[in-house]
Amino acid sequence: MTEQTLQFQAEVARLLHIVTHALYSQKEIFLRELISNASDACDKLRFAAQTDETLWAGDADLKVTIGADKAARILTIADNGIGMNRDELVANLGTIARSGTGEFLSGLTGDAGKDMALIGQFGVGFYSAFMVAERVEVVSRKAGEAQAWHWASDGSGQFTIGEAARETRGTTITLHLRAGEDEFLEPERLRHIVKTYSDHIALPVLLQDGDRTEALNAASALWARPKAEIEPQQYTDFYHHVAHAFDDPWLTLHNRVEGKLDYTLLLFVPGRRPPDLFEPSRKAQLKLYVRRVFITDRCDELVPSWLRFLRGVVDSADLPLNVSREMLQHNPVVARIRQAITRRVLGELEKKAAGEAEAYAGFWENFGAVLKEGLYEDAEHREVLLKLARFRSSSRDGWVSLADYVAAMKDGQTAIYVINGEQLDQLKRSPQLEGFRAKGIEVLLLTDPVDDFWLSVVSDFEGKPIRSATRAGADLDGIAGGADAAKPEDKAEGAALGTLVALLKQTLGEAVKDVRESKRLTDSAVCLVAGDGDMDMHLERLLRMHQKLDMASPRILEINPSHPLIRRLAERATQPGAVDALADAAQLLLDQARIVEGEPLADPQAFARRLAAVMQQGL
Ligand code: ADP
Ligand code: MG
Repeated sequence: MTEQTLQFQAEVARLLHIVTHALYSQKEIFLRELISNASDACDKLRFAAQTDETLWAGDADLKVTIGADKAARILTIADNGIGMNRDELVANLGTIARSGTGEFLSGLTGDAGKDMALIGQFGVGFYSAFMVAERVEVVSRKAGEAQAWHWASDGSGQFTIGEAARETRGTTITLHLRAGEDEFLEPERLRHIVKTYSDHIALPVLLQDGDRTEALNAASALWARPKAEIEPQQYTDFYHHVAHAFDDPWLTLHNRVEGKLDYTLLLFVPGRRPPDLFEPSRKAQLKLYVRRVFITDRCDELVPSWLRFLRGVVDSADLPLNVSREMLQHNPVVARIRQAITRRVLGELEKKAAGEAEAYAGFWENFGAVLKEGLYEDAEHREVLLKLARFRSSSRDGWVSLADYVAAMKDGQTAIYVINGEQLDQLKRSPQLEGFRAKGIEVLLLTDPVDDFWLSVVSDFEGKPIRSATRAGADLDGIAGGADAAKPEDKAEGAALGTLVALLKQTLGEAVKDVRESKRLTDSAVCLVAGDGDMDMHLERLLRMHQKLDMASPRILEINPSHPLIRRLAERATQPGAVDALADAAQLLLDQARIVEGEPLADPQAFARRLAAVMQQGL
């Protein structure tokens, strides 16, 4: 088959354009990326060879070999890992399958400096080779296959692919360095870069210099070494390696457990939120090793999914080396390690929450929404998670814990009040909060989709019921403080109000569950609340949005007896012909309440017609 020329996916072409044209101070990271890929390829081979020993083909000595040819100005990085066939070369080195890419690219501004900083955080993997090379060639032969393939590109929109010769499995990357990049041919420089970025991966990185071969890294799995011998920077470098990340870890946990079970953990909580944290496919990403041999990074059972932001390594001495993915699924050893990791991480979080509130708030902003999934899914850790949870509040800035909330409760207040919605500002303006605000009662503002779910299973905190401020029973009468919503003389007269309520009920019929005088409104004329046994309004909206629910339950319409509009309507309700005269007004009151709630109008045309009619009368 002859050589073919193919186009890069548009996103890759854009990325390459930036990579090749921007000046980037940390070009050396290309080597870390290529070594990291080689290391992944070796891990993959080891895993595949567990079910098919022939893949070893007599060469079980996995390694990465760097070669520098000063005369030709060529740097090569070779591995004897899993390799790629033609289709894989085209897919892996012609597109970006990584989740978060779209988001990342749309964040690019065109300003080289800013974009480069973003690239630094995202990581461009293989494509970083073009930072130093004007032409990149890849020759690869997949383990178990006979044909090798040659991929080449100068990074400008297209690449070629054709047949090649390679004696053994694996991949060789050849970089034809740009003018001025000769430093990357110097053994001293290479030694330094490998030490810095790849010292503690479990795979040897060798430098081939003529006939001499020199090991550049310690290749001692960092987690297996005593804590006391490890510098903080080494942990950070290792985190960059295992997590493919560029930030500093927020928390590093390294410990060795010996006893009934024998295992080592080196876990990191990232300092920033990975872009794909909420992808449905996103599961735990810890790497599982058995006595320093990589087994898999797909063992979802190692941590609960609400700790899926954890990165790092678990190395067990109790699992058999030939453990298969299926065997890991209901494995008692894995289950106990999971227990231990969960307790350990929660314990550390509690310590941070207590001792370093500000740092903890940063963590919570990144991962709180994930942790809250545990409130819903994991009854066993619910109590601790409730203590760890932080919330926005209607009456103070910053993050509030449930204990903070309880400490600030008013005399006579027995419940913890919350309100759910999409956005903070919108929630702060909710009419249902008016009465709470007038009495100085704090309401927690919940804006993560997961909040609706855990609230359906968590009914109280330390004996204080958690109640939605949008529920009928949120009765403020018994709570001291604030001015009463209205002085009697400012209120609609009782009998007239009763007539109005009856009229509204009659006119609105099935569209509402009930109409009643409100204790919670001070400024708005009306609002909707959920009946005591009914589904939370925001949850229902969310379920409808995701087509999990197709009916809308009728709500209770509350009217504010001291609002001038309601007072006028109440007066009018007692006069002859009121039912006809107020028919439009009644519908408009309900529509208005729905709009404020973010509910769709049942009949927008009718709404427009009524509004026009009422405005016309007013002129
Ligand atoms: P990432 O490593 O984050 O997946 P990269 O851009 O670094 O992204 O690499 C893209 C893909 O190319 C890898 O996921 C892998 O499938 C493949 N790949 C890159 N280098 C090698 C290699 N040396 N051996 C085998 N596959 C490789
Ligand atoms: Mg990579």
